[in-house]
Amino acid sequence: PSEEAFLKTVRLAYTKLARNERFDAPIELRRSDGSLFWCRMIGKALDPSCPEDGSLWMLEDVTDQRASQEERLRLSTAIKHAAEAMVITDTDGRIEYVNPAFEVTTGYSREEALGQNPRLLASGHHDGAFYENIWQTIRSGQTWEGRFINKRKDGSLFHEEGSISPVWNKKGEITGYVAVKRDITEELAQETAARQSQKMEAVGQLAGGIAHDFNNILQAIEGFCGLLLLEAKDHESIRSDVLEIKSATKRAATLTRQLLDFSRSADVRFTKFSLNEITENQMQMLRRLVDKTIQLVPEFAPNLKLVMADRGQMEQIIMNLVVNARDAMPNGGNITIRTENIVLGTMAVSEMPKARPGAFVCLSVTDSGTGMDKEVLNHLFEPFFTTKKKISKHGTGLGLAIIYGIIEQHNGWIDVESEVGEGTVFRVYLPACDETEDLVNKTEGDKQDDSGALSQRILLVDDDPEVRKLTGQILKHAGYEVLDVASAEEALELFEQENGGFDLLFSDIVLPGQTGIQLADALRKKIGLRVLLFSGFSDDKAGLSELKKKGYMFMRKPFKLSTLLGTVHKVLQRRNS
Ligand code: ADP
Ligand code: MG
Repeated sequence: PSEEAFLKTVRLAYTKLARNERFDAPIELRRSDGSLFWCRMIGKALDPSCPEDGSLWMLEDVTDQRASQEERLRLSTAIKHAAEAMVITDTDGRIEYVNPAFEVTTGYSREEALGQNPRLLASGHHDGAFYENIWQTIRSGQTWEGRFINKRKDGSLFHEEGSISPVWNKKGEITGYVAVKRDITEELAQETAARQSQKMEAVGQLAGGIAHDFNNILQAIEGFCGLLLLEAKDHESIRSDVLEIKSATKRAATLTRQLLDFSRSADVRFTKFSLNEITENQMQMLRRLVDKTIQLVPEFAPNLKLVMADRGQMEQIIMNLVVNARDAMPNGGNITIRTENIVLGTMAVSEMPKARPGAFVCLSVTDSGTGMDKEVLNHLFEPFFTTKKKISKHGTGLGLAIIYGIIEQHNGWIDVESEVGEGTVFRVYLPACDETEDLVNKTEGDKQDDSGALSQRILLVDDDPEVRKLTGQILKHAGYEVLDVASAEEALELFEQENGGFDLLFSDIVLPGQTGIQLADALRKKIGLRVLLFSGFSDDKAGLSELKKKGYMFMRKPFKLSTLLGTVHKVLQRRNS
């Protein structure tokens, strides 16, 4: 020990003795072999009335004692500073010690807690059996682990998670219990919020999907109700029933519209466009989304084939993939966004599990991030599968599940290649249209966009506006394109305007001015058009046979619901064969 400290202690000792006081203090000494040790030094005067006569000194080696004292100090410091609330009780559950974290979490001060039973915190959320089980566990010498809902001093509730263990003495007897508990109120709240938002997203997807189909069904029901109303003109009781169905359908349609609004998928619209174009447009936004340490590298193929897709959904796919890549690169790196024209033959397809032969546009997002192991790769497209602990806007585990769903709807597929520590490539394949982007730019641009699947066109002629409207509606729901007019003259005009681009003339025979038959004759001269005529007055056998001779099909009005679509379909089929 330092000479100085030693001398100071000795000097202090003599001063004390001179004042006739007893000296008792620790002192560090050196043994003859040079090793240090701690002593308790006790000194007192031999004759208290005359301290100068001599003194008695005793030295006690307290090295071990001191070590365990230090150890205890370390432990108590640790307990004091721990974030976990700790409580030590005796065997009856009387509180003997609480640490500062306990004071912070519960609002009870040390003084208020000491001597009390932990029951002090009971919130009434647990029954007697719950506490009985805890006591049984710890009395039998085991550790109890679990969660509590407890009450703070101010009456507010909080959630705790932790353990209660028995404390043993050397003889193997339980001398008390120690509880270590963590306040998880905040954590649970965040978890609940995250789960809620995930659920909403999932419900949104589901609602959107169902509402869309359901809406079409409702419109069909409404249409047929209208038709029934016409058929049942003279049956008041049937009409009033049908009117009820109609108004119920309207209410259902309102509900579906609300669902669609909620899911925001009301406006899924397929158009033809280039993935280069939307990715280019998104680049600026994507750059803002990623850290400065991450480099976004676009590699767009020239003359990229167009895809028939929903723009919003394609943007969502690109964004989700880039966000995932970003999350996988906490230390920065490169994200390459590449587009390619790809033609797959049977050979290539045999090596790609989900592929099929044909021409495709491939959009890939490559990152130099953490990569994924087998386990993650096996589950990553599952809804709610996530490895992200942080509850962020994107850590819902739905990103890839949504992408998967969208791509399925587009008749494409997605595959992934990943190596732990190397990075990941996601490739999205969508069927390619024949046109390339350049071609479209040079020609009419947007005009072709909405063409979609080629549907068959019907020219509908009927002077009864109600019947015309309903018939048109029903045919439209069945997927036909329908243009309707009220007279033969208008029909001729429209036919001219549209360059005869119709597959079927579906006309009433009795019209103001020219009849449906005259109209059919006129149009048939120009082009081989299928003709389906209808009339409410059709007992005229001669007229009917004339129609037959001309090759016109005939339907009686009002239509039987079951026969309208069937007949139209049959007539159009015939034309094709
Ligand atoms: P989320 O991003 O919300 O976790 P996702 O469905 O988007 O949900 O992704 C699911 C999981 O797939 C992620 O949690 C992550 O483990 C893994 N993953 C997705 N993309 C990548 C990537 N580019 N690199 C590494 N892991 C990824
Ligand atoms: Mg994601």
